[in-house]
Amino acid sequence: MSPQIEILVAGGGIGGLAAALATARAGHRVRLFERAPAFSEVGAGIQISPNVVRVLQAWGLQDGLQAVAAFPDALQVRSALSGRTLGRLRLAGRAEALYGAPYATIHRADLHQLLLQAVQAQPEVSLHLNSPVTLAEAETDGVALLTPQKKRIEGDVLVGADGLWSAVRQALLGVQPPRVTGHLAFRAMLPQTHLPAALRSTCVTAWLGPDLHVVVYPVRGGHWLNVVAIVHGEVEGDLAQWDHGNNASQLLAVLSDCCSPLQDLVRAVPEWRLWALCDRPPLARPEDMAQGRVALLGDAAHPMRPYLAQGAGMAIEDAHALCRALDQQAIDLPTRLRRYALNRWQRCARVQARAERNGRVFHATGPVQWGRDAAMALLGERLLDVPWLYAGDPLNPLPDA
Ligand code: FAD
Repeated sequence: MSPQIEILVAGGGIGGLAAALATARAGHRVRLFERAPAFSEVGAGIQISPNVVRVLQAWGLQDGLQAVAAFPDALQVRSALSGRTLGRLRLAGRAEALYGAPYATIHRADLHQLLLQAVQAQPEVSLHLNSPVTLAEAETDGVALLTPQKKRIEGDVLVGADGLWSAVRQALLGVQPPRVTGHLAFRAMLPQTHLPAALRSTCVTAWLGPDLHVVVYPVRGGHWLNVVAIVHGEVEGDLAQWDHGNNASQLLAVLSDCCSPLQDLVRAVPEWRLWALCDRPPLARPEDMAQGRVALLGDAAHPMRPYLAQGAGMAIEDAHALCRALDQQAIDLPTRLRRYALNRWQRCARVQARAERNGRVFHATGPVQWGRDAAMALLGERLLDVPWLYAGDPLNPLPDA
């Protein structure tokens, strides 16, 4: 076990808790500061692919995951207009055989709770709610956070895991607001028993249509269904606060040309939440992830479009890689953090770029749509699988293509 490092973590989302867990398990002392009055996550689902499940298993979360997640049979891609199946990727059994871990889908609150409980079981972690913090100082021999009451909190290393609108990132890299994607996400969850049998599912289904797609998958041991519909559109107001209740009428208007099973599913959802999606361009250099004694992690470092379902996954991989970098006792802490960034930035940039490209392909019209559908029919699983990502080592900066 390496000598204890005093780690400060800003943010208690999936990324911050993952960082706290990984580093506390390695014997470091962690103080985590969350601006909200309680630890919570939005009521929506999340897909966690085998590369991420492997990390969670390494942290001893296998049984907890097994108890609350769903493990879909397959990913099926369907035309939102005709309902036709365009492609299919087997997941159950195949993911374990090829990538050493299952493909899971889970309620975000369940994953958050799993991480929180594991963190709370670590004696060297203290958790502080109602604590919005920012970077006060990063010197060669230490870092300091600042609370709104101007209280200084000192440590050896700061992990900025404070999300898309990160205050730590802003203090470190300057003000560069996130990019407005022009895409809106409608999200909902409902018990499968509230649906007619024909609409229930044990698969991840991606419905692709012109300028839209809808992703549906089971969570909570398969008892609930998560539905997310992405459409083109803009909203007004403060984008940092953009999460609002909504009903199906606006969504149904956009989906009016879609096939009846998809419209029936949308009609069956009693309540939606609406998000405006923002991201940042792919990381261009390791200095965007770590400088001196400050490291960024998760959405604070690389917020991405959700079209490869990897934002939280990359945050969890970051936490694993950060912990491994901090273990390298022969080098000083800034060099360890630089090594973390060097190990991570290209893989995260590649995932960011691929997610953006997926959005264009999912929403394609005309010849691109025709080519997409033809390629899926021809290549099937080979097109839908992502071996470099699912088999990839979170520490390998240049995964195989
Ligand atoms: P956040 O979840 O944003 O957490 C940041 C935390 O920091 C929050 O708790 C916040 O309150 C706190 N905070 C903020 N500022 C401060 C401050 N100054 N001081 C202290 N605390 C602060 N990812 C996947 O892996 N799979 C998926 O299937 C998937 N689907 C998605 C679908 C949609 C529609 C969207 C929008 C995203 C999806 N993602 C998915 C991405 C994923 O949600 C995010 O990448 C992930 O939640 C980022 O976690 P984080 O901890 O880095 O940031």
